[in-house]
Amino acid sequence: MRIARFTTGDGASFGVVEGDDEADLTIRRVEGHPFAPFQLTDDVVPLVDARLLAPVLPSKVVAVGRNYAEHAKEMGGNTDPTTEPPIVFIKPSTSVVGPGDAVQYPVGISKEVSYEGELAVVIVRLCREVPPSRVRDVVLGFTCANDVTARDLQRSESQWGRAKGFDTFCPLGPWVSTDVDPADLAITTTVNGDLKQAGRTSQMVRSVDELVSHISMAMTLLPGDVILTGTPAGVGPLAVGDQVSVTIEQVGTLTNRVVARG
Ligand code: MG
Repeated sequence: MRIARFTTGDGASFGVVEGDDEADLTIRRVEGHPFAPFQLTDDVVPLVDARLLAPVLPSKVVAVGRNYAEHAKEMGGNTDPTTEPPIVFIKPSTSVVGPGDAVQYPVGISKEVSYEGELAVVIVRLCREVPPSRVRDVVLGFTCANDVTARDLQRSESQWGRAKGFDTFCPLGPWVSTDVDPADLAITTTVNGDLKQAGRTSQMVRSVDELVSHISMAMTLLPGDVILTGTPAGVGPLAVGDQVSVTIEQVGTLTNRVVARG
């Protein structure tokens, strides 16, 4: 099932995306929200007539760094990601935007903004201290994320809160795919159609189950919270005017354009 958040101009609703033909998808509005049993309605609109929104509004986005060995290598540093605990950081809820929304380049503050295509895990229920074997019970599904990063600020500041926390620096979408096994999915990032990142989730240093469990040992996770699982090798700069897309097998494609912040 593909669960989206959308609007047709009169407020936001959750809906289920239906159809097999990518060019002919529809969205069926649901009564309620996907974090509890919900009712399907008879209200169906063509997807082209709806605007997709960020599929969830998380209370927090918890992200991990250096979770693909080849990416850790390209970033340098002496730590071995396979023996060190994962680097955990928070992206503020205000960094979240949806598919098709603009990523605002903070011109005058950063000169090097980078994309990071990532598999995002969406939490379905309040939970803490979840053992790895129980993680699937607390997961609604998976979506695509772009962990947009002001790389120059990340390098010059020991905490990454500002570098990764600008408004619009966390595109999510296009929807949450349930019934997906995250163990070995192809993940790619393109900029203006050129392939920049091509990895598989099987290359993660720590699995989805290990990451969610590890984070839940520190903080309570709430329905709609999002966990970013790290990026494969191939990160690089974005420029104003670029179109950046993250595609994950069995999930979909998240596309955003880069604009200068006004
Ligand atoms: Mg990242």
